[in-house]
Parts: sequence; structure tokens; C-alpha cells
Amino acid sequence: MSKPRGILIVISGFSGAGKGTVVNELVKDKDAYALSISMTTRAPRPGDAEGVTYFFVSREKFEETIEAGGLLEYAQYCDNYYGTPKAYVESQLAAGKNVILEIEIQGALKIKDQFEDAVLFFITPPSIAELERRLRSRGTETEEVIKKRIERAAEEAKGIESYDYLIINDKLDECVSNIKNVVAAAKTAPKRNRQFIDELRAELGTCLKGE
Ligand code: 5GP
Repeated sequence: MSKPRGILIVISGFSGAGKGTVVNELVKDKDAYALSISMTTRAPRPGDAEGVTYFFVSREKFEETIEAGGLLEYAQYCDNYYGTPKAYVESQLAAGKNVILEIEIQGALKIKDQFEDAVLFFITPPSIAELERRLRSRGTETEEVIKKRIERAAEEAKGIESYDYLIINDKLDECVSNIKNVVAAAKTAPKRNRQFIDELRAELGTCLKGE
């Protein structure tokens, strides 16, 4: 019987919530998960790699891609553009992979409008004191950038109720298995298995006719 379409998964959360680590754990299961690589105009940070963490482009190139309809969504965050290239997401979903978008809230809300079946997770650290500690321990951001990110966190906190699930990233293993459990449960919804149900019914019909 045929493989159902993958689930579109949105993961948002404050900068410093540990989203990247959670996502890295999920994509270790390459058969089940694919990570969408975003396009951005922000400068690469230490540890970033072209085509791995982001596609780094100029504002001009980004705006051209918007014009050409090449992005599923995009947003401005701390003075830079970030967006999700459309083609990869579409092809991976069709291949039955669960596609992860690690994006901020404006983008998450646009995805929710376009894909009613998307599953949206908001990840937080256990406390704001822990968030500040994690941001400083990265050692890659200036105090000004840290302040901007905390201001942004206060903005994003206003939108938590728009998400389907709130995941507290205290223990990584628990956090990852909570997400996997939600995805596994979502997969069982009849609306995501229409083709399978049609095939079952067709087989039952055949069986009843004694063929
Ligand atoms: P960072 O600069 O720390 O890598 O990312 C800043 C924020 O941009 C994070 O909240 C991240 O989730 C978000 N982001 C990354 N890629 C995208 C994208 O394609 N679209 C949107 N809307 N946000 C993104």
C-alpha cells in the first residue's frame, strides 16, 4: 500500500531555547525526517556553513527569490530576511518525509494559514534565566545582539498560543521523544491516510465479491 505524505513540522522558540540541538536529534532519523535549509541575508556566524545551516544570500538575491515565488514563507528578524525555499519542502513531503521548518513566529503563522495540517511546536528553555545563560555561553553574540534577541523573545512570547504544542527543553531526550510521540500520533489521523483507507475499502469490496 502507498506511503502517506509526510507531515510539515514547524519548530519555533526563543533564540537560545536549544531548537538547533533538538532538530539535529530529530534529523538523525534520515528515513523519517528532512530539514528544510532556509535562505537568509544575515552574515554567517562561526559554525555556519553555506548550504548546511543556511543559504547565505544578498538582499537583492533574496528579494528576487520572493518575486519569483520561490519561498513558502519569509520574514524579517533582527534586521535580516529569512525564508523557506519552496521546492525542497514540496518534494520531501511528497516522498513521505516529515519536513522540519525551524522558523520564527511570523513565518510559522504564514505556514499555519497555508497548510492546515502542519503541526506547530514552540520550544522554550525552562526559565528566562536559563535562556540568558545559554545566549551568553554561545560567546558568538555581542551584548547588543543578546539584548535584541531577548526583546524579540518578549514579542514572540505573545504568540505562544498560536502553536499546537509547547515543549519545555529541560532534558533533551525527553524533549525529542515528546516531539516524536506527537508526530507519531498525528500520523494516525484518518485525514492523513485517505489513500490507505480508499485502498482498504477497495480490497474489502473485492473480497466481498469473492474475487
Ligand atoms: P538565527 O539568526 O539565530 O540563525 O535565526 C534567527 C531566527 O530566524 C530563528 O528564530 C530562526 O528560527 C528563524 N528562521 C530561520 N530560518 C527561517 C525561515 O526560513 N523563515 C522564518 N520565518 N524564520 C526563520
